[in-house]
Amino acid sequence: MFTAQDKEDWLKAKEILEKNMSVIVYDLWIKKLEIIDKQDGVVILSSPSETAISQINKKYSENIISAITECLKDAKDFKIILQDDVEKYLTEVQDEEVEILNKPKISLDPKYSKYNFDNFVVGKCNNIAFTACKSVAENPGGSLNPLFLYGGVGLGKTHLLLSIGNYVQSHNPTMKVCYNTCEGFTNDYIESIRKSKDRSPYSFREKYRNVDLLLIDDVQFISNKEATQEEFFHTVNDLFQNNKQIVITSDRPPNEIPTLEARLRSRFAMGFMQDLQQPDYETRLEILKKKAEVEKFTVSEEVFEYIAEKVENNIRELEGVLIKVVFYAKISGKAVATLTDAHEALKNQIQENAEGLTMDKICEAVCSYFNVTKQELIGKKKNKEIVDPRQICMYLITELMDTPLKVIGNYFGGRDYSTIIH
Ligand code: ADP
Ligand code: MG
Repeated sequence: MFTAQDKEDWLKAKEILEKNMSVIVYDLWIKKLEIIDKQDGVVILSSPSETAISQINKKYSENIISAITECLKDAKDFKIILQDDVEKYLTEVQDEEVEILNKPKISLDPKYSKYNFDNFVVGKCNNIAFTACKSVAENPGGSLNPLFLYGGVGLGKTHLLLSIGNYVQSHNPTMKVCYNTCEGFTNDYIESIRKSKDRSPYSFREKYRNVDLLLIDDVQFISNKEATQEEFFHTVNDLFQNNKQIVITSDRPPNEIPTLEARLRSRFAMGFMQDLQQPDYETRLEILKKKAEVEKFTVSEEVFEYIAEKVENNIRELEGVLIKVVFYAKISGKAVATLTDAHEALKNQIQENAEGLTMDKICEAVCSYFNVTKQELIGKKKNKEIVDPRQICMYLITELMDTPLKVIGNYFGGRDYSTIIH
């Protein structure tokens, strides 16, 4: 498509040509050229005469290129077609444009644009992960492929994953970037089979095998269905072999995802694996300050320090608490959140985190509430009267304490951590 501006600019280019060429050459070959299209920097011109086209291509193409690059935006080259063929040309181009419009556009949803490298606070806990992500964003399909990021909830995995996507998309707008959770990925696959007549996942492959950057979040939720694993493996393999970048996140390393097939584990092991650790005090403080700045919250220094001290192991929670404190200040009509607001807002939270809370105490409370014994609670019985309190007890422990899942599993008679997560 060309714009009205292009048309005007083409007339200017013609003026230049007129000045620089002999009258005869201009009148014979150039004067009747008209602009009919512009595609990817190629200006498409029409001419009524076949001789004119061959003469220009032989002798005057440099003159034309220099005139159009001077006058038309983004113009690099030109092509002349015979006037009689113009109509045919235009319908063909139109069909192509419609086709492009109908294809699913592979890019990040704009709602993710707030996650970028600039608003990610780097500390000891995450600097290697950050550097690896930045390097992948600058050089997708390079040596860190696939990149596998893992770490606990709320430590910034999704933030980094989307930062790579946003960076690549803004620096290489032609690259196809696809982000999805493992769950979404699986659903797409199932859906594509459901829709296809012969149960082949055409639309799925069309989408995922054509991307330049594939970002899959929370791979720990991969189902152990053979077909899904198979498709996932081939997608990763295919992209990898074509030097396309793959980035995967998970809440734990591949060898601790029981549903993940061995060949996928080893594929990931061939790339670069990095974990995110819990942020130290300084980093927590900086994250809080950055968040306050972005959200335009006015908060006193001691409040930042207080929150950074109390909320230790989850950045999402850190942000949640800050928002809560600011909210408390607002409803009590203050412009600046103070320590009193922080105490008030965190009354419950802090009690929960108070020292002295043990798995035994939580277990005792649950037992007495549901009227079951500790032996039953940690035992193997599967009737509902026991299972519900057991799961509630596990849930409370994971929520209220920082105990590793393995330890909780042991407490409950040597259960697997996947049971605890469930
Ligand atoms: P995960 O995917 O690991 O569970 P997220 O990436 O969703 O964690 O992070 C949780 C929240 O904390 C998000 O709002 C994210 O923007 C924020 N966050 C995490 N790490 C950082 C960081 N280093 N700097 C700034 N914000 C962060
Ligand atoms: Mg996440």
